[in-house]
This record gives sequence, C-alpha cells and structure tokens, in this order.
Amino acid sequence: MRKTIDLRSDTLTMPDRPMLKTILSASLGDDGRASADGRGEDATVNRLEDMAAALTGKEAAVLFPSGTLANSTAVMTWCRRGDPVLVEEEQHILLAEKFVFQPELGGLQPVRYHMNASHLPDPEEIGRLLETSGAKLLCLENSHNFSGGYCIDLPTMKAIQEVADRHGAFIHLDGARLFHAAAHLQVPAEQICRYVDSVMFCVSKGLGAPVGSLLCGTSDFCRRARETRKLLGGGMRQAGVIAAPAIYALEHNVARVTEDIQYTKLIHDMLNGRLSKIGLQKEVQTNILMLDLSKTGIDAEAFCARAKEKGLLIRPVRNNRKVRLVVYKGITKQDAAAAADIILALDQELSLAKM
Ligand SMILES: *Cc1c(COP(=O)(O)O)cnc(C)c1O
Repeated sequence: MRKTIDLRSDTLTMPDRPMLKTILSASLGDDGRASADGRGEDATVNRLEDMAAALTGKEAAVLFPSGTLANSTAVMTWCRRGDPVLVEEEQHILLAEKFVFQPELGGLQPVRYHMNASHLPDPEEIGRLLETSGAKLLCLENSHNFSGGYCIDLPTMKAIQEVADRHGAFIHLDGARLFHAAAHLQVPAEQICRYVDSVMFCVSKGLGAPVGSLLCGTSDFCRRARETRKLLGGGMRQAGVIAAPAIYALEHNVARVTEDIQYTKLIHDMLNGRLSKIGLQKEVQTNILMLDLSKTGIDAEAFCARAKEKGLLIRPVRNNRKVRLVVYKGITKQDAAAAADIILALDQELSLAKM
C-alpha cells in the first residue's frame, strides 16, 4: 500500500528513540512546589527553563503543557479583566485559542489590527490603535500561522517596539514557530525576542518534542506568570519527564528546521505556475503553505477528502476556503514531492470538471 503523507500539522511530529531515552535518566522533583525564589524542585525543568531563557535572551522562563496555556497565561499576567488588548485579526490567540477574549473566561477586549499586503503589521496603525484604545498590551505572532508562515522582519519588529514604548505598552510574542522565523530571517532567535517583553515558543511542533511550550521574560514577569499558571491549573509535578525530551529538542533539533523550510519551498516550486484552479500563496518563508480554493468550485473540506483518497492528509482552515500544508521532522523530500504531485493531479481534475 502507498504511504499516506500527513501534512495536517507540525504537532504530528513523533519523538524519536534517543529523545525518549532522555526521560529515563532525567532527575525529577515536584515542579509545583516552588521555593522562595519562585523556582520549582524539578532539576530537569529548571535546566530547560534556563536554556529557554538563554535562547530567547530573557532573564527567565516557565514551562507549560501547551502553547495555548502559555499564551493565555502571558496575556492574563500582563492584563486585568476588561482591559483592551491589541491583537491582529487572524492571530492564533484570537481565532484558535480564544480563552482570554471570551467574555465569561478571560474577559479581555480585543482591539484588532491588520496585516498589510506583505503580511506585515503596520506600526502606524498600531500606534493609532494604542492611542485610541489605551491598550497596554500588544500581541504579535512570528512566524504567522494563518497567513501561511510569513515572518515579521527585524526592522518592523523594532519600529513596533518603538511605537509600543511611546505608548507605555508591553509586547507579547506568540512565537510558536520562533525558530522557523529565526531560520528565515537568518538571525539567532534572541534577536527577534529583544523587541518584545514576553515570548512563547513551542517545543512540541517543529522541534519535535512530544509536549511543551516555554514562556520567557523578566524574572519578575515569570514569577507572576507561574502564579497565573497555577490558578489556571497548569502547574505540573515531575514535569522533568516532558522537560528532558524538550532539552534534547533544543540541543539537537533547532538547526534542522531549515530542512522543513527547504521541503516546503520544494512543494511551492513544484506548484508555482502550474496550477490553473487552486490559488497558491506568493512566497514560502517557513514550514507552512496555504492553498486558496475560492476559485475551484469546491470547498476545503471536499478538497481535503479528495486529497485523502490520493494519500495526502491536509486540513481546511479559515472559513473552509483555504487548506494548510505543514512540513515537519519526519517528512522527507520524497514525501514533499509526492504531496506536490497529488495537489497537481487534483488541480488538473478540477480544471477538467464541468462547473
Ligand atoms: C500551535 C500554536 C499555538 C499553541 O498551540 P498548542 O497546541 O496549544 O501548543 C500558539 N500559536 C500558534 C501560532 C500556533 O500555531
């Protein structure tokens, strides 16, 4: 039987054996039992948090079971109930996570900003919205998931920080795929993070660990975030069992994210100029590629069902008009090429069909 290629999400990455072996020798303790300096008693978690802080150039870090909980905790730590928060209209935190903006849960007021045609936030619009709303927190996403993995370059990050500073606002960065952004921008992750006050990144996606996300910032912010995490039920006990594979991921899997980007670009190159019905995003920057189905005559759900018949698993996003492909550790160059061939075949079927 032909192998099914699964490009639904980079959360599908499986931990490899050397990674899993680190769990057996990890030194463990009760991470939920914090000492006076705010640190838990699990030595492996503490080591991971120190590594995360160093990689992002921040004073401290806190481990979370998910990126959703880390983002929610960050925003709730910066804000009080009812506060306005600047968030881009297609940000994960707004469209997928929702928690902080649910009236009955986080209770914060989203103030939406927009991306320009180059998929970049506009510092001028942000300044205007900070002014009129009085918001003291601005959320960024780099790389940006629902746009198709586009990155915010350093000059734009810097311009945004200057605007935020002028209005006394803090910046939280959703960096679920921070290391993919760093690879595209060809800078160490720390250089992206110097323009923000707090940053979350996932080890459970492109870095290949089974579980975990890290929230990084000043020591004082992280101490408060730890308290918020506890209130939200995110405190963990012998969490070294998830920290050990995460340490392995940071030591072994950061540099290889360039491979994901290379294979995503391969799919794009194979499709570019050869599709008659399916819309293709202009450029691939990281490990995500979006297909636009609005001119195909079928919706994303139906398209994904047809792709599945041909051995490709992909997922509808954004109102069932787009489809997302994500490349991750475990997807080979051959898989990427085969996926592109399946999309080409589907496009041909769609252009032959009577509409
Ligand atoms: C995946 C993701 C998250 C967090 O996801 P979890 O599944 O909760 O770990 C946050 N932001 C973005 C942009 C993501 O893609």
